[in-house]
Amino acid sequence: MRAAPQTGDIPLPRPTKLSGPHWNACREGKLLVQQCGDCETYVFIPQTQCTSCYSQNLAWVESSGRGTVYSSTTVHRPQRLEFEVPYTVAIIELEEGWHMLSNVIGCPHEDIEVGMPVEVTFQKMSDEITLPMFRPVA
Ligand SMILES: [Zn+2]
Repeated sequence: MRAAPQTGDIPLPRPTKLSGPHWNACREGKLLVQQCGDCETYVFIPQTQCTSCYSQNLAWVESSGRGTVYSSTTVHRPQRLEFEVPYTVAIIELEEGWHMLSNVIGCPHEDIEVGMPVEVTFQKMSDEITLPMFRPVA
């Protein structure tokens, strides 16, 4: 079965003042991540301080959106009935060295494996929320 985005009425993220820039960029097809201006550590999920040196000198930068599957699991029993199963949740290691939790779509679930090269793709879920997901690099 081919991994695909959810089409039902699933619960969506609620942007905050802190995470707003990330979600605004997703609507424009860009994947933003915070980077520390002092030690250059990438910080995700959005924070008010660097997770490495505690500096508050964080800025939003654009990721290449390319990476690899760091870990994944295919869900066959949904936590909520709104979710269509199966779906694959994965930790993606972006090429800049940071990680994010997302979904892998666009290939059979059984083809998804650790180390698989992927690239970001954006799925509009509502007027406000576009979710970043990852697909195999062609
Ligand atoms: Zn830092």
